[in-house]
Amino acid sequence: MSNQQYSFFESVEKSFDKAAKFTKWDKGLLEQIKACNSIYSMKFPVKMDDGRIEVIEAYRIQHSQHKTPCKGGIRFSLAVNQDEVMALASLMTYKCAIVNVPFGGAKGGIKISPREHSAYELEKITRRYTAELVKKNFIGPGIDVPAPDYGTGEREMSWIVDTYQSLKPGEIDAAGCVTGKPISQGGVNGRREATGLGVFFGIREVCNIPELMKKTGLTPGVVGKSVVVQGLGNVGFYTAKFFRQGGAKIIAIAEYEGAIYNAAGLNEEEVFAHRKATGSILNFPGATNITNSGDALELECDILIPAALENVINGTNAGKVKAKIIGEAANGPLTPEADEIFAAKGILVVPDMYLNAGGVTVSYFEWLKNLSHVRYGRMEKRFTENMNTHILGQIENLTGKKVAESERNSIMHGADEIDLVHSGLEETMISSTREIVEIWHSNPEIPDMRTAAYVCAINKVAISYVELGIFP
Ligand code: NAD
Repeated sequence: MSNQQYSFFESVEKSFDKAAKFTKWDKGLLEQIKACNSIYSMKFPVKMDDGRIEVIEAYRIQHSQHKTPCKGGIRFSLAVNQDEVMALASLMTYKCAIVNVPFGGAKGGIKISPREHSAYELEKITRRYTAELVKKNFIGPGIDVPAPDYGTGEREMSWIVDTYQSLKPGEIDAAGCVTGKPISQGGVNGRREATGLGVFFGIREVCNIPELMKKTGLTPGVVGKSVVVQGLGNVGFYTAKFFRQGGAKIIAIAEYEGAIYNAAGLNEEEVFAHRKATGSILNFPGATNITNSGDALELECDILIPAALENVINGTNAGKVKAKIIGEAANGPLTPEADEIFAAKGILVVPDMYLNAGGVTVSYFEWLKNLSHVRYGRMEKRFTENMNTHILGQIENLTGKKVAESERNSIMHGADEIDLVHSGLEETMISSTREIVEIWHSNPEIPDMRTAAYVCAINKVAISYVELGIFP
């Protein structure tokens, strides 16, 4: 698929080095920030449904413990290898730093194709992997807290928390050993859609910054913008949903079996239902088939959202991409060669490392909920509603006028968990976008938004090392 010159981890290191030149930090400190601190590479046997024993290759890598616990998703994919997990763990450190989530970066991976295993086999693999992590002290609410990633979701997180709790009976904060859990297992409302919603909030903010829009030649705002999404999994589905609801048009969706195009716009829920019913995204009513899925990346559009896997846009196809903005919803979808091509063409790349931070931001909220043992809004919702009713009554008495019934409900409403989670996420994505753009615009030598994001991350991690007293 790609002709990239660098491994994924080398690409991350290359971007880091490019940005480090714009910081004032000591060489040794920069080396420490870049290094992966702990690498746990494991193999374990699992008996499959047909009686065969399969030896499973898996990893958990903690890139940085400058803040604990470490945090990062677990990926199930046949492409998993140590280099990939190291790269993803590093990105987690930088991502958490940018969005002010007080965690170090980590990542896990199991080299399997989830589609080729039964649910029972996947459960055995996940539980055994968790037991291995417990044995080596690589998981725990204060040590390392996994989450979903490519190929995993709420179901796998339930197996993890259940295994952990049975191996650590009585540990009061055990639910905080993993995030992305179903609500009944200690999850938080809003985690499922968090990454996609964060991608939307981030790009919407970019579209609201006039200087950036001038560079791309687009008008401000997301309304009416044409969007192409690659990957209709957790991140791609919700990104498409929030863009459509925000007034943009999803003109194409790509999956691994092909892509579909409709200039009038696609509804991601209908496409998802069609794929579930027929087993393929292709032949969706009213849409044109694109048999070579990768061709969708080269369609004329305003915003391109790669939300599948890394290295999909590289030296080979970057020159053919016609989008004005690329929002990296996936981790590492562009190679450094692609970055250079886009910088030269004036295509704005909004980098993965903060754009897809919605997942970890809401995971942080979930972890806090687990440690506090109380649902967000439980204590104040009714109080706020009573207070708002009282204020509204006073205003109506004093003015002699009545507020319309439709307005009344929204004025009186006290915040539910979902309202607080979405508002915390919106604030995080807006302020991170502004912080990165400010760094970018503060120095004309900083070539792109990715480099600015790395500068932001490096500065924040460096300061916490310096303030720990480790480096003078
Ligand atoms: P997922 O498994 O839910 O979905 C990925 C989708 O991409 C699947 O539907 C898969 O069939 C599709 N896909 C695979 N190869 C493809 C190809 N070549 N062309 C088109 N589609 C293809 O995974 P996800 O959780 O949505 O993660 C997607 C990306 O987002 C990954 O890079 C992941 O690291 C990143 N990410 C995920 C989260 C999260 O909260 N889940 C958070 C941050 C970043």
